[in-house]
Amino acid sequence: MRLAQPFAQPYVPPMTMPLIDPFARTIDYLRVSVTDRCDFRCVYCMSENMTFLPKKELLTLEELDRMCSAFVRLGVKKLRITGGEPLVRRGIMTFFKTMSRHLTSGALQELTLTTNGSQLEKYADELAACGVKRINVSLDTLDEEKFARVTRWGRLPQVLRGIRAAQAAGMRVKLNAVALKGFNEDELFTLTDWCAQNDLDITFIEVMPMGDLGNEDRIGQYWSLKDLRAKLATRSDLTELAERTGGPARYFRMEATGQKIGFITPLSHNFCESCNRVRITCTGEIYTCLGQEGHSDLRAPLRASENDAQLEDAIRAAIALKPKGHDFDYSRQQVDGQVSRHMSHTGG
Ligand code: SAM
Ligand code: SF4
Repeated sequence: MRLAQPFAQPYVPPMTMPLIDPFARTIDYLRVSVTDRCDFRCVYCMSENMTFLPKKELLTLEELDRMCSAFVRLGVKKLRITGGEPLVRRGIMTFFKTMSRHLTSGALQELTLTTNGSQLEKYADELAACGVKRINVSLDTLDEEKFARVTRWGRLPQVLRGIRAAQAAGMRVKLNAVALKGFNEDELFTLTDWCAQNDLDITFIEVMPMGDLGNEDRIGQYWSLKDLRAKLATRSDLTELAERTGGPARYFRMEATGQKIGFITPLSHNFCESCNRVRITCTGEIYTCLGQEGHSDLRAPLRASENDAQLEDAIRAAIALKPKGHDFDYSRQQVDGQVSRHMSHTGG
């Protein structure tokens, strides 16, 4: 007797399960800090005398590539490079060049970075050639003297040249400005007008309390974005946009100019249910929530073997521990600082 022929099945390539956390959120956004070093010393981020990590603690450029590529294989679609200052990491353009293969293949949809802008004049063309289409540049003031004060080591004209170079290379630039009461409060309209004139988007960030920076020259204080928005609304109607990024940003249109203005309130809970992101530090720790201390080490499994099986298992195990939400709360914390982990460590 002849056995019935099985139905011919179409070939289905082996599937990699995407990264889904216990709360059914798909993780498709990775932020990677490539260095803890920086050529600025912003008062809300670093102390003047920083001790940086020994080089051997950092992931090498090859390890960063393996790490990011593993995440891309597991379904990450958007990769943001940050730091410290990512563009002061030696050889960083090699990393951008090799990562651009994932854009070419279509596996990655966006490769981008957050930078203080100091090195942009030098690197804008190369970044654009690697497929970087949009970048975030941090800038809190347009006043040279105030800029030097808040960044301690930064020089405004260099950053402005960097922004112009990025635009000339065809990249869309968004400014990130930390809202600081008594510091840039009086520049709110100067900043938004300047952005409108120069075709830049702008997002304001609520300052997070970093209490252990040893800053005697504390500049500015917590300025609630609710108050900042109310001040903007004295000038123009603001219409909330439906756009969501899965993170703490909300976007509005200023009807008077048509500009898009973002507000990042990292301390609010209202975005946790749609959180799609995880962060990797420059030493290969994964933080699955900006507001929680819980983290896992990915460097040991990465270094344990040349193939990525252990690394992928460790990534999945870490995602399985992603908490539902964070518990920053100004009503329970003193604004003067309870967050022990710096933005320059986890990458903002
Ligand atoms: N060096 C780059 C830069 O300044 O854009 C990338 C790293 S920086 C840590 C990323 C972002 O974190 C910047 O926009 C910076 O303004 C923000 N940041 C740093 N410390 C902060 C704090 N205490 N509260 C709110 N934002 C902070
Ligand atoms: Fe450097 Fe960015 Fe931190 Fe400023 S905010 S000290 S530029 S890492």
